[in-house]
Amino acid sequence: MNKVKTSLWKLDPAPESTDHVSLQSSYGLFIDGEFVESEGGGMFDTINPATEETIAQITEATDADVDKAVKAARTAYQKVWSKTSPADRGKYIYRIARLIQEKARELAVIETLDGGKPIRESRDIDIPLAAAHFFYYAGWADKLAYAFPNRTPKPLGVAGQIIPWNFPLLMAAWKIAPALACGNTVVLKPAETTSLTALKLCEIIQQAGLPAGVVNIVTGHGPVGAAIVNHPDVDKVAFTGSTAVGKGIQTAIASTEKSCTLELGGKAANIVFDDAPIDQAVEGIINGIYFNQGHVCCAGSRLFVQESVFEEVMRKLKHRINTLNVGDPMDKNTDVGAINSHKQLQRINEYIEIGKDEGADFYQLESDLPEKGFWCPPCLFTGVAQSNRIAQEEIFGPVLAVQTFRTVAEVIKKANNTPYGLSAGVWTDKGSKLFNMTAQMRAGVIWANTYNKFDPTSPFGGYKESGFGREGGMHGLAAYVKI
Ligand code: NAP
Ligand code: MG
Repeated sequence: MNKVKTSLWKLDPAPESTDHVSLQSSYGLFIDGEFVESEGGGMFDTINPATEETIAQITEATDADVDKAVKAARTAYQKVWSKTSPADRGKYIYRIARLIQEKARELAVIETLDGGKPIRESRDIDIPLAAAHFFYYAGWADKLAYAFPNRTPKPLGVAGQIIPWNFPLLMAAWKIAPALACGNTVVLKPAETTSLTALKLCEIIQQAGLPAGVVNIVTGHGPVGAAIVNHPDVDKVAFTGSTAVGKGIQTAIASTEKSCTLELGGKAANIVFDDAPIDQAVEGIINGIYFNQGHVCCAGSRLFVQESVFEEVMRKLKHRINTLNVGDPMDKNTDVGAINSHKQLQRINEYIEIGKDEGADFYQLESDLPEKGFWCPPCLFTGVAQSNRIAQEEIFGPVLAVQTFRTVAEVIKKANNTPYGLSAGVWTDKGSKLFNMTAQMRAGVIWANTYNKFDPTSPFGGYKESGFGREGGMHGLAAYVKI
């Protein structure tokens, strides 16, 4: 126990059961419709970040494995998938969607065990949204002519896809569903700390009877991603992850014909005006930064509060923080789960030290923490300057940087003063103010009087160093066709 718990609500444990979960002790690579051993690669552990216990062993793919996966995808593309009728492509994708729904409870538990996010979120957000993405793009498979009127959309071929650890199954769905709907085949690499739901998805893909080689999943560390990016027979690279790796990918493919979409980091402004519904705004601030331990590229990590309501917002925000339950992600009452990895926890703690050194005032929930596992209770900094690193750099943890403003012009300038441009939130009673703000802010997604709302029908993506291309909605199809 590190700290004295002062949370206002003490709740009895309400653990989700794990009886219905079937996991193997080790997983191979999913290539050409089957789980296979690596050609020369080793195995590594995937652990539960809340207990540090090993859950299963994952295969580290080699360059030879990646080559095999790309060849399987190419053969499946040429011989089967490009000849499958659009309506039949849709049928397979619908089947995958329905199987995800059927296995939702199992997938939710695995997501939480492997990644540390609260079961409430994997159960209510990650898994239902993953199914919804497959349902949505299944519907487009035979309607592409309507998405691109008077033009002839053609698939790109083999898509190489690399995803991060913050929404493992959901990111796989964002990548795979539109690729298949548009007639491409796939080689996907999940993040090394969260491969399990992608591997369970392979079992679902087998059950759905998807032709062998249409989806291939290769596990491992960064070099496996690089091998996909650099493979000469990959036609398209779709990457979600850090801006640093994204820039490297762009450089690596600069002299090739490969098409590319990048979904990178963010440093979103969440802006509260004095005419906002303050209680709802406080809920939105909490959801914006503490949801999923702040492991959200579009997290509302910079809060801007209009000066006249600063005291009220901060009083209510701290009060609400004190009600949050941090701990066992498998408990249905947990609001904030485990940090995804030891490495990420170190990075967050470094930023907390940087913030203190920069002279900002620090506030953190005092919470009993389990002895094992990786934990960071929700925290915030006030008295933050625009130039502070905690106001400029992506932390990817439950750390909020709070600043104040007086005028609309001032807050727009401050909000846009970052290399990123992924998302933002605006809280105000006035529609005209909202539209004025959204027109002037450089952010791909702007939420009005809400935060972190997702839907497969709406496009998502960034400006500036947050990347390019859109995922989701009709716009998401454009990333997987040539016109
Ligand atoms: P990351 O290091 O960029 O990793 C993302 C993925 O790329 C992982 O699968 C990773 O493998 C792989 N990878 C690492 N080095 C590579 C290389 N040289 N070539 C190809 N692939 C490589 O990012 P992360 O630390 O896992 O995730 C956090 C970051 O992702 C944050 O900055 C966040 O903002 C961003 N993110 C953005 C979005 C968005 O939609 N814009 C969504 C989620 C996350 P390993 O896991 O084995 O390292
Ligand atoms: Mg894990």
